Amino acid sequence: MTQHSAAPSLVVVGSIGIDTIETPVAKRESILGGSASYACAAASFFTNVGMVGVVGTDFPKQDVDLYKHFKINLDGLETVPGQTFRWSGVYEANMDNRRTISTDLNVFASFQPKLPAGYRRSPFLFLANIQPTLQLHVLDQIDKPRFTVVDTMDLWINTAKEDLLAVVKRVDMLTLNESEARHLSGEQTLLKAARALLSLGPKYVLVKKGEHGSILFSERSIFLMPAYPLEEVQDPTGAGDTFAGGLMGVLASAGTVDEPTLRKAMVYGSVVASFGVEAFSLDRLQTLTLAQIETRAGRFRDMMRV
Ligand code: AMP
Repeated sequence: MTQHSAAPSLVVVGSIGIDTIETPVAKRESILGGSASYACAAASFFTNVGMVGVVGTDFPKQDVDLYKHFKINLDGLETVPGQTFRWSGVYEANMDNRRTISTDLNVFASFQPKLPAGYRRSPFLFLANIQPTLQLHVLDQIDKPRFTVVDTMDLWINTAKEDLLAVVKRVDMLTLNESEARHLSGEQTLLKAARALLSLGPKYVLVKKGEHGSILFSERSIFLMPAYPLEEVQDPTGAGDTFAGGLMGVLASAGTVDEPTLRKAMVYGSVVASFGVEAFSLDRLQTLTLAQIETRAGRFRDMMRV
């Protein structure tokens, strides 16, 4: 799919899916999802982002139009014969626990990501949740990125640990949730888990704790960040991808990565994610403005001041 736009400052590779999701609030069928969709939409508020992913010929035109609405560079989006990846899940009452009902890889099963020439010198790379061999394939094609982040999930820790460790060794930051951090490291406390994960190679480990916020670990420091308190959550799907996408967008727009910039990027990532979970799919992000993000970021910072 060719869309002639400027070379992206941030490249995101991840899943693009059609989801069916039931939360305690509502059930929605066949809605746009996938880690790359959430991450690219979130990043687009801050930087020029390019998407790498695959869809089938059944992928709705309205969803491509939505990507264009976010001004996502689609040069790396492939359309191949077959059905788009599909996933369905159900959330328990507290929305903390989620059960996967079905995963149909479809066109994902034979996907080999190819970076368009214009993406290869992108300084920022986000390897969103996708099979680790595909993440490695992308790392092999990019030309000395300034900052690379990888996200993962339990499935890959269970089924592709060696490949996942090979990815982790080559990136600057690993992001994962609390239980995945314990699972991958084999350590019980988060501090020990983070230290073990840092020793695998990355400079930073970012542990996501859902509605309890996130923690950034580096060799020298720990930064604790709460989550923006919300009155209503409709669908937490993709919150981590939205958070990481927003964070990477802010870093790419700053062009540098130091600890103050990372902390600021975490604030913006959380704020965009807080909007995202107020509705299903990309529905809330679609109407979101930078002014609304700034207003909420200001309130959020006030809440954290001591
Ligand atoms: P998250 O809530 O961060 O786990 O992201 C949810 C999104 O991940 C959904 O929109 C799904 O389409 C997508 N997803 C679910 N399972 C997988 C998988 N095995 N690989 C890649 N993406 C997936």
